[in-house]
Amino acid sequence: MADTKLDILAIAAHPDDIEITSGGLLIKMARRGRQTGALDLTRGEMGTYGSDAEREREAAAAAEIMGLVFRRNLGIKDSAVEYNRENKLKIARVIRETQPEMVILPHGQQRHPDHLACHRLGFDACFLAGLKKIDLDGEPYRPRKIIYASYYRNSEYSFLVDISEEFEQKVRAVSAYKSQFGNNDDKTFQEMLENGQKNIFHPGTTIYDSMHTRNHYLGLLAGVRYAEGYSVKENILIDDPQKMPVRSI
Ligand SMILES: [Zn+2]
Repeated sequence: MADTKLDILAIAAHPDDIEITSGGLLIKMARRGRQTGALDLTRGEMGTYGSDAEREREAAAAAEIMGLVFRRNLGIKDSAVEYNRENKLKIARVIRETQPEMVILPHGQQRHPDHLACHRLGFDACFLAGLKKIDLDGEPYRPRKIIYASYYRNSEYSFLVDISEEFEQKVRAVSAYKSQFGNNDDKTFQEMLENGQKNIFHPGTTIYDSMHTRNHYLGLLAGVRYAEGYSVKENILIDDPQKMPVRSI
């Protein structure tokens, strides 16, 4: 993967978080020729399945499937992501190096403490990266836009992104994590949705079923097949309200 200036950098706590929460958007943007990348804070080593090396290979395979041009792991200890200055600066260094126009962070409503820490660290890192006098390598730089990916605890979204065309590829990217979700290489898309192997998220529910249900539900809200939900903290400025998509009635 080439070191490069990015259009979009997604930051998350564990390998596979990015695929599950914003894989559709990243695939869509890569297909439009945007330079997209991922920064994982930990190797997810506290997870029940898979070794570090396996997860690293899987993350690289998933990056390839999503068309990312950059992926890095900061190697912070899994389940011990602390909201501290050291971690903020580690992330800020990558922001300066990759100069993303937009950053995707986890939404602030979270169950897992690492996800919440990542939300807070990521925002602060974007800010600190722009300070001229801070003791940090690289040129001062601040992303223009930060959007927050839904981790499904929150139920309000600023906007939905249609990922109907990208959903199958998103599922393939998640399925690269074989140590977590089983080997589904010989399965069709439909079979993966029905017969994923491990019940990590909810008893009796595979990750594929869970993604399908959630992304399909969000799609139904907007009149498309599949969608991902995102939030922003600022207001969205619209030039012509008559051209807003999604029917009101
Ligand atoms: Zn996670």
